Amino acid sequence: MIELQKINKSYQVGANSLHVLKGIDMIIEKGEMVSIMGSSGSGKSTLLNILGILDDYDNGKYLLDGKLIANMSEKKAALFRNRHLGFVFQSFNLISFKNALENVALPLYYQGIRRSKRNKIAYEYLDKMGLTEWAEHLPSELSGGQKQRVAIARALVTNPSVLLADEPTGALDTQTSYEMLDILQDINKSGITVIIVTHETDIAERTHRIIKLKDGIIENFSKN
Ligand code: ADP
Ligand code: MG
Repeated sequence: MIELQKINKSYQVGANSLHVLKGIDMIIEKGEMVSIMGSSGSGKSTLLNILGILDDYDNGKYLLDGKLIANMSEKKAALFRNRHLGFVFQSFNLISFKNALENVALPLYYQGIRRSKRNKIAYEYLDKMGLTEWAEHLPSELSGGQKQRVAIARALVTNPSVLLADEPTGALDTQTSYEMLDILQDINKSGITVIIVTHETDIAERTHRIIKLKDGIIENFSKN
């Protein structure tokens, strides 16, 4: 379970402080599939990055499975992310000079798993995404949908309990976006908590619940 209590976050921009998150209270149960919506600049990525321990918050409390997530060293945060969290981004964030298999295997490298074993596991996840024939291909040789499936395989390869996706369909056409949602729904059905930032209503409507961010606070909780 994810629990945020009165989370505040400001950015220092020159001499000014920009108050982005103004006391966010939020609970996401284990196994939920939720979307976070809000206009551009409303703080969606900031919120997701805090959930993903990619960024710190100023005050409040973030509890992940009852554990207080605060003031972690970068090393500890990286370890925690690697063990518990998976990420998918709008721009895929694949390493351009590594092939699909190597991209998917990378998180296992950081776990110290030997090459033959990590390639075997990575290959299984590529297979789940229907990409075995593309294992040796570089990202530049893949379509947008294929790249995002590689990114999803990479996010899942460490068996995370939470998958965080920041505008995962933002760079994809409608048909491919819906296929991506099918995949994310299947992932959720396997028991993984899925949190999707999107500004597309039709995408958000395919999640269990929409959390709306406006002016730094959660505007309302709507059940689909
Ligand atoms: P969204 O994802 O909803 O578009 P963001 O969370 O990316 O919004 O950004 C929220 C606000 O914080 C925006 O005004 C943005 O310009 C600002 N912001 C985001 N990241 C930084 C940063 N690292 N430094 C300064 N300002 C930032
Ligand atoms: Mg954003």
